[in-house]
Amino acid sequence: MNNKSTHPIIRLLKKTRLCEYSDCWLWEGARNWDNYGMIKVRTKKITSTHIISFNFFKGNIPKGKQINHICMVRNCVNPEHLELVTAKQNQQSSFGKRYIECKDNIDGHYFKSIVKLIK
Ligand SMILES: [Zn+2]
Repeated sequence: MNNKSTHPIIRLLKKTRLCEYSDCWLWEGARNWDNYGMIKVRTKKITSTHIISFNFFKGNIPKGKQINHICMVRNCVNPEHLELVTAKQNQQSSFGKRYIECKDNIDGHYFKSIVKLIK
């Protein structure tokens, strides 16, 4: 299986590790200027990693809704840390908050076993 035909969720979990401290699933691949994880899903199409995770584990994002990181870790892709909000709610919830980053370090063992299950 080459890179282009591999399901984005598998590619995502391969580069994700578990933060033991906060339960965050930390994407460790490319990020944009704002610290959100980014992944190329089709030629030239780049999507945020938390959107890929939400779509896979929880479903489509209804029109007019956005995803808010409850944990405030922008490269986190744990579906349990993602909630649907309106643009206004998203703005309000992030106002004045400082986005944090998980610093602990354990290996990606947990996700390797999930990837095997999905395959
Ligand atoms: Zn999180």
